[in-house]
Amino acid sequence: MEKQLNSFAQESTQVKGDWQAKMPSSHGSSLEEEADHVEEFGTRLALERTLEKELKNVELALEKIRKGRYGICEKCKKPISQGRLKAYPRAQFCTKCQ
Ligand SMILES: [Zn+2]
Repeated sequence: MEKQLNSFAQESTQVKGDWQAKMPSSHGSSLEEEADHVEEFGTRLALERTLEKELKNVELALEKIRKGRYGICEKCKKPISQGRLKAYPRAQFCTKCQ
């Protein structure tokens, strides 16, 4: 996922985990091409935001694994069912609390 983000965005040097979509590298010679690039940039921006969120969730899950808290509901602190974790590995809450 980080690789995918890197292909069109770069991580902020100041804030870790904060990504910025890159402007498409080639510059259009005509207004039409310019508009295409702006449109593509918009798409990248949206994708970057989605991926950044996803990446944060993954990192959160990894952090929990490190602390041995993976698979524990954030609300009721009870273990999340294996079936739910399989279907949604990044689940933070059990089915009841979700
Ligand atoms: Zn719960």
